[in-house]
Amino acid sequence: MAESSDLAAEAVVPLAAPHAVLARLARRLAEHATVTETVVGALIESKFGTARLTASATCLRMRAEGHSDTALSVMKMVLAEHLVELADDAVPDFTWTGHDASRHDLPYFRAMIVAGAEQVTPHMRRLFLQGDLYGLDQDGLHVRLLIPPKGRRPVWPHARADGRIVWPSGADRLAARVYTIRGIERAKRQIAVDFVLHPESSGPGCRFAQTAQRGDPVGVMGPGGGMPDAVAGRYLFLGDETALPAIARMVEALPASAHATIRIEVGDPDEEQPIASAAVLDLVWLHRNGRPPGTTSLLEDAAAVLDGSAWGTGLQVFAGCEHSQARALRQHFAARGLDRKALNIAGYWRQSGQAEDI
Ligand SMILES: Cc1cc2nc3c(=O)[nH]c(=O)nc-3n(C[C@H](O)[C@H](O)[C@H](O)COP(=O)(O)OP(=O)(O)OC[C@H]3O[C@@H](n4cnc5c(N)ncnc54)[C@H](O)[C@@H]3O)c2cc1C
Repeated sequence: MAESSDLAAEAVVPLAAPHAVLARLARRLAEHATVTETVVGALIESKFGTARLTASATCLRMRAEGHSDTALSVMKMVLAEHLVELADDAVPDFTWTGHDASRHDLPYFRAMIVAGAEQVTPHMRRLFLQGDLYGLDQDGLHVRLLIPPKGRRPVWPHARADGRIVWPSGADRLAARVYTIRGIERAKRQIAVDFVLHPESSGPGCRFAQTAQRGDPVGVMGPGGGMPDAVAGRYLFLGDETALPAIARMVEALPASAHATIRIEVGDPDEEQPIASAAVLDLVWLHRNGRPPGTTSLLEDAAAVLDGSAWGTGLQVFAGCEHSQARALRQHFAARGLDRKALNIAGYWRQSGQAEDI
């Protein structure tokens, strides 16, 4: 499959009010990309590539360029999804010409199977997923697992000619949950994913981990996220057990010159895991000791205690935990004036209500 910097595709979409739709599209895309007005339309620059939008009296012309098959496919999908949502009238069927025009699979999707499982700690189960590892490199941290209905032949998503994704529905509906790639074993064509077994849940992610048999199918979309900036010298990692795989993977990749302060909240000492790294580590495990996950202020309290330390310049903060805990951490660091660019704080799960299905 191609990996190039100049893969391009074009689509011309007849519309009643092309200029108005272009303006709306540009405004929407500015939430995630850099948008520059041009004489004839707009230039969109994102981490996946660029798009040039131009409007005439009767149609909107979109030219997408991507750094790879995957990037181009994402560009086409994003443009098409937003266009269809933002146009006043029904958008007539349109197709992309150019690179991969006749391709209907998603280059960032892999159909994989469960190749094995092992218990890491009492509440953490590792599954080995085997298949095509295309696009899963050392930098991509997370994937979206697509879990098909048990015992049913899976129907996977594919791309329409206009770039949008077609999701299976009804009895074929997939459950989608985000997980971290804990490790990659290229020789075996495998990734390892560590699942928290949260006992009160009947969530599809947790259930899949508990019941998976060798050969069970699972879809893997992505990757997303990224490893921390290699030039920072100091790192602060805060997280509960759902972020433990991400923290472990990031810390393992740090160079010997790095200093990492790590605070991880787990149920009890049996849930602790060794984390090996060339970096200098200050690692403390925080125990809930019977309190339910997502209900403590252990991480925020730990962050407050650390505030007096001389962090120096180039501190990067990563945090992953329950949504309300993540919000509290964001407010904590914002109140202390830390540069937003140095903060990567994410809600990994929700105490109230489950993650969304597709
Ligand atoms: C970027 C990212 C990376 C992630 N990486 C991992 C990972 O490597 N390993 C991992 O296990 N999780 C990871 N998560 C978190 C995981 O996606 C959520 O925990 C998800 O909700 C699990 O789905 P589920 O189907 O088991 O439960 P859901 O159907 O989403 O939820 C069902 C019920 O379980 C509760 N619940 C969900 N998760 C937990 C939990 N951890 N503890 C207690 N109760 C819970 C919910 O509040 C709900 O009541 C990650 C999330 C993100 C955003």
